[in-house]
Amino acid sequence: MSKITRRDAIKLVAGAVVVAAPFTAAAAPDGFLEGTFYVRCKNGHDDKVEDITRNHDCKTCGEKSVDGGTAIVVCPDGHGGPENRVEGVTRQHQCQTRLPNGGICGKQCRR
Ligand SMILES: [Zn+2]
Ligand SMILES: [Zn+2]
Repeated sequence: MSKITRRDAIKLVAGAVVVAAPFTAAAAPDGFLEGTFYVRCKNGHDDKVEDITRNHDCKTCGEKSVDGGTAIVVCPDGHGGPENRVEGVTRQHQCQTRLPNGGICGKQCRR
């Protein structure tokens, strides 16, 4: 009977994890919006999304406005430029739009 030592067993398990990891990453994109946000498509249309949103197509023109968690969110003042692009997991976002007085808007985009 062959004898597998504890150290060999750990090596076998570690090898299996390394092989399996790329498949897991490809099957489950980890980006999403959590909560209620307005998202803007590249043609300037705003849609409201709620709860967990990984992907969303614009209701007006069909452009993807949320793609694997990447989106442009719109603040309560209607700012939705490229500076408000979010990626990965987004639970809140402060508007990054620059104001004429030199500051930034800073309003919470989650509604
Ligand atoms: Zn659109
Ligand atoms: Zn703003």
